[in-house]
Amino acid sequence: MDFAYDARTEELRAKLLAFMDEHVYPAEAVADEQRAALASPWETPPVVEELKAEARRQGLWNLFLPDAEHGAGLTNLQYAPLAEITGRSPQLAPTALNCAAPDTGNMEVLAQFGTAEQKKRWLEPLLAGEIRSAFAMTEPEVASSDATNITTRIERSADGSEYVISGRKWYISGAMNPDCEIFIVMGKTDPDGADPRRQQSMVLVPRDTAGLEVRRAMRVYGYEDHYHGGHAEVVFDGVRVPAANLIGEEGGGFAIAQARLGPGRIHHCMRLIGMAERAIELMCRRAVARTAFGKPLAQQGVVQEWIADARVAVEQVRLLVLKTPG
Ligand SMILES: Cc1cc2nc3c(=O)[nH]c(=O)nc-3n(C[C@H](O)[C@H](O)[C@H](O)COP(=O)(O)OP(=O)(O)OC[C@H]3O[C@@H](n4cnc5c(N)ncnc54)[C@H](O)[C@@H]3O)c2cc1C
Repeated sequence: MDFAYDARTEELRAKLLAFMDEHVYPAEAVADEQRAALASPWETPPVVEELKAEARRQGLWNLFLPDAEHGAGLTNLQYAPLAEITGRSPQLAPTALNCAAPDTGNMEVLAQFGTAEQKKRWLEPLLAGEIRSAFAMTEPEVASSDATNITTRIERSADGSEYVISGRKWYISGAMNPDCEIFIVMGKTDPDGADPRRQQSMVLVPRDTAGLEVRRAMRVYGYEDHYHGGHAEVVFDGVRVPAANLIGEEGGGFAIAQARLGPGRIHHCMRLIGMAERAIELMCRRAVARTAFGKPLAQQGVVQEWIADARVAVEQVRLLVLKTPG
């Protein structure tokens, strides 16, 4: 098998590695300091906007989007090694390149299924990195890994001009970020329909719509993930939006969710490999720099074996991830 990256990927890799060295890693400490001084932990540190401007100037922008009209037009196989590099600085690099979840999946939905009007109103500012977004599917009351269980109701108003949405969602990433202006909400337009995969639809709900309440930040493994806009509980209480806010067709929500979540999940895997690589680097540096009982840790007991095991595991996972989109 040929594992070499093609010329375009190599060119972008070289550019991105330089961008990481020159701009992203030096900004990590700056971002931490700025974040500590912010009025709210959910705000974005100013250095992130500087990184975004520089990344865009260098053409390192919207690399995730296979759609060549709106994004870089890379395949997932070309994007994988680039996303891996951004995973080395997960709090800054994905956002700097406008390649952060959950916006990436939401932009893909709008690019693929949005009307011209929806693209103009929401996709364009998202592609420009001017606003953020959230995707609201998971519900506390039902096992949401099986999206046929979703209970949120999306009902047509009597005159047909609006949708009325009622339901409760949780773990809605990005919703705590004050820049999050738009929610893609999944619910049921036809809860009694014969085909359980045609009962769901997706609608666009602007954050400032009456009846939408971002109720609280939730924790994952004890962290609130401020840099990521958190993961929120969100309540929709008789929220009304124009019928034109439907994405795709009524009953098409389940299929859109499949299209959206596939790339989103593998993007996380790509970035995690970069995170693991950086952790191995830190581990190796520590192992040679730290001395205990007369010799460096690297020469003690099983430390080299642990490092070798970690290296093998990461190599295996990278091949698996490359094989998935490839
Ligand atoms: C950090 C984080 C961010 C998230 N962001 C969002 C977001 O932005 N928007 C959103 O809508 N949701 C989000 N979620 C929610 C996430 O999508 C759901 O947690 C996930 O779909 C599982 O649903 P559930 O929690 O209801 O678990 P359940 O469906 O109740 O699953 C319970 C258990 O069953 C297991 N299980 C499920 N299906 C299978 C299967 N086929 N085979 C074997 N075991 C199975 C699971 O592993 C799990 O242990 C986020 C979650 C986390 C942790």
